[in-house]
Amino acid sequence: MCKCCYTIGDTRRFCNDLEPVSPHPFDNSFEKELTSVQIVKERLHKEIMQRCLASNQVPLCINPLSASFKNFARYVLLIIYSSF
Ligand SMILES: [Zn+2]
Repeated sequence: MCKCCYTIGDTRRFCNDLEPVSPHPFDNSFEKELTSVQIVKERLHKEIMQRCLASNQVPLCINPLSASFKNFARYVLLIIYSSF
């Protein structure tokens, strides 16, 4: 819940400007360069590797040959389908 609106008793009091202009508009210009799935995959990989290098951590890798991969995949599908 936002901090600009408040409740008095049972009544919710909303602020005057419910859609204020952000002082820092979101820059979505990077989306224009994402023209294919392959490019998105490359960008994601680059981003993950940069973050891991910066934080000195190893990226999470999923091993499809692992014995527990079937359970993992079933669990992920359950989460995805239960969100619809
Ligand atoms: Zn508010």
